[in-house]
Amino acid sequence: MPDIIQLLPDNIANQIAAGEVIQRPASVVKELIENAIDAESSEIKLIIKGAGKTLIQVIDNGKGMSDTDARMSFERHATSKIKKAADLFSITTKGFRGEALASIAAIAHVELVTKMHEEEIGRKLLVSGSKVTKQEPCQAQSGTMFSVKNLFFNVPARRKFLKSDPVELKHIIEEFKRVALAHPDIFFSMYHNDQEVYHLPSSNYRQRIVSILGKQVNDKLVPIEEDTEIVKISGFVGKPEAAKKTKGDQFIFVNDRYIRSNYLNHAIKSAYEDLIVKEAYPLYALYINVDPAKIDINVHPTKTEIKFEEDRLIYNYIRVAIKHALGHYNVSPTLDFGANTNFGNPIDNSKSYGKINDEYNLKENINYGTGKSSFEKSNLKAWEQIYDGMQNQSDEQPTEEQQSFTIASKISTEDGQEISKIEEGKAPYQIHNTYILSHIKSGFLLIDQQAAHERILYEQNLASLSSHQRLTQKELFPRTIELDNAKATIMQNILPKVNALGFEIEDFGDKTFLIHGIPAGLTGSQDATSLMEKLIDQYVSNMELQLGIEENISRSLAVSAAIKRGKPMEVSEMKLLIDQLFACEVPYKSPTGRRCIVTMDLDTILKQFIG
Ligand code: ADP
Ligand code: MG
Repeated sequence: MPDIIQLLPDNIANQIAAGEVIQRPASVVKELIENAIDAESSEIKLIIKGAGKTLIQVIDNGKGMSDTDARMSFERHATSKIKKAADLFSITTKGFRGEALASIAAIAHVELVTKMHEEEIGRKLLVSGSKVTKQEPCQAQSGTMFSVKNLFFNVPARRKFLKSDPVELKHIIEEFKRVALAHPDIFFSMYHNDQEVYHLPSSNYRQRIVSILGKQVNDKLVPIEEDTEIVKISGFVGKPEAAKKTKGDQFIFVNDRYIRSNYLNHAIKSAYEDLIVKEAYPLYALYINVDPAKIDINVHPTKTEIKFEEDRLIYNYIRVAIKHALGHYNVSPTLDFGANTNFGNPIDNSKSYGKINDEYNLKENINYGTGKSSFEKSNLKAWEQIYDGMQNQSDEQPTEEQQSFTIASKISTEDGQEISKIEEGKAPYQIHNTYILSHIKSGFLLIDQQAAHERILYEQNLASLSSHQRLTQKELFPRTIELDNAKATIMQNILPKVNALGFEIEDFGDKTFLIHGIPAGLTGSQDATSLMEKLIDQYVSNMELQLGIEENISRSLAVSAAIKRGKPMEVSEMKLLIDQLFACEVPYKSPTGRRCIVTMDLDTILKQFIG
C-alpha cells in the first residue's frame, strides 16, 4: 500500500486552527486589542460596522512593525513575545502563541498599516486566505491599524452560524469592556456604525469601572486591598444592595487578563453569604496579581481559563479579603429579594480585631432565620464566646502581626474543659512536619495536622452532600481507572454520591471508569487516579463499621485527601488549617476518633521544671 499521510497546506492548517481561536467577530476584537496593548499603546480605537460582520478595525499608537515583522506577523507560530520554552513560565504579555493573526488572515480580508515611531514612512499590507496579496510603502501615523473585512468569507458554514447583529455586538462590547477594565491607564474608544459607544480617557480603576458600569455604581463600590506573600488582590466589590438577580457585572482579572473561574466566583460569592440571597449576583471587578510562574494560562487557546498552583490558598485569601472589606466599610446588609433573610444591626468597627475577626463581626451581626442548621448556630455561639473574650482586651491596640493573624480558640475539649482565651497572633510553627504549634494565652496547642485536616474535609464533605454545592476542578484529559469486579460493583452503587462530592466520574462499562474531574480544592494534594483508588479502598475497609453510605464516603474521602503527617506546611497553610479547624462543628476529634488538639498549659509545664 502506498504512503497516504500528507502534510496539510498552510492555508488549510490555519483555517482549522482558526476555528479554535476565532469563533465570532468578538474574538477578532479581543485578539487585535490585546496585540495593541502588548505593543505598549496608550491609545486604542475600535471601529465596528455591521456588528463586526462588515468591518472590525483597531487603531493603536503602539510601537508598530518593520517591513519584515509586518509580513511575518501573519505566519503561524510567529511571535515576538516568547523566544524559548522557559519564557512560558513568565508571561506578562496577552499573546504568546503567535496564532491570532495567522488565524484571522486565514478566514478574512485583512489590511495592515503600520509605522514605527522612528520611521518617516510606513507600510501597507493586504492579506486574504493566508496570502499576502500586496505590500507597499505608505504614509501612516505611528502605530498600527488592522482592518478585518468579510469575516469567514471562505468558511460559509461558520458565517451562517453567526448570530444576529445585536447578539454579535453584545459579545464585542463584552470583550471591549473586559480589556478596558483591565487597563484603565489606556485611552480606549469604540464606534459602531459611526456612532461613539465608549469614550474612556486614561484614568484609574475606580473611574474606569464607573465609566463602564455606570455612575450609579460609584457609591456602591467597596475597595479591596490585600497583599500576601503569594497573591495581591485589589479592586472593588459591590455593596450587598448592588447585587442583581442577573449575571453580568462580575469581572476577575489575573495579571491584567480577564479570566473565567467558577472556583474564584464561588470564593467571592461565599464572602457574601448571609448578606445577599443565594440567587443574587454581587458586583465585582477584582484584580489578582500572582507570580506568572505560578499560573498556567496555556490551558485554553482563548486564554480565559487559568490554573493556579495554589488555588486553595488563593480561594481563601479572596474570601477573607472581601469579608474583611465588607465589614470594614460598615456595609450593613439591606438587600431583600423577598426572601426571609433578616439582618441585624450594622457593624460596629470599634470591635474589629483584624481580618479574621471581621468575619466574626459579620456573623455576629446577622440574625439567623429559622432555616439555619444547628452547625451554623453552634458556630455562631462559638464566635460569640470568642468575641466576648476579646472585648476584655479592647483597650490594647493589636499589633500589625496580630492584625494579620488573631485567632480565637475558646472551644470546649471533649471532656468539657475550655481551651482558654485568645491566640496571641504569633505565627504557628510546624514540629517534625507533623504537629502545628499554636500559641494560646495559657500556653500552647499542638494540632495533629493530619487528624485536623481529616476533620475539616469530613465536615466539608457532609455539607456538600446535603447542599450539592461542591465545585469540580476538571481534568485536562479524563483519566481511566479499572477496578476489580467487587470494587466496580461498589463504585457503581456509590457513584451518584461520589459525584455529589464534586467528582465527575463516568461509568464507562466493563469495570472501567472515566475521571473527568475531582473536587475543587483537592487538586493540589494528589493526582485524580490515586485519590480515587484510595477513596475506594478506604470505603471498602470502612464497610465493616456499617456506616451509612454518606458517612462512609465523607469519611473515606477525608482520610484519602487529607494532608499527611510528615508533609511540610507553609505558615499560610497552617493558619488556614487552624482557621478552618476552629470553624468545624467538632474540632477536637478526627472522624476516626483520633485527637486533633492537645493543650499544654504553662502551669503544667512549670511543674515539670520545678519537679
Ligand atoms: P501573539 O500575540 O501571540 O504573539 P499574534 O498572531 O497575535 O501572536 O501576533 C503576532 C505578532 O505580530 C506579535 O507577536 C507582534 O510582534 C506583532 N503584532 C501584532 N499586532 C501588533 C500591533 N498592534 N503592534 C505591533 N506589533 C503587533
Ligand atoms: Mg496576539
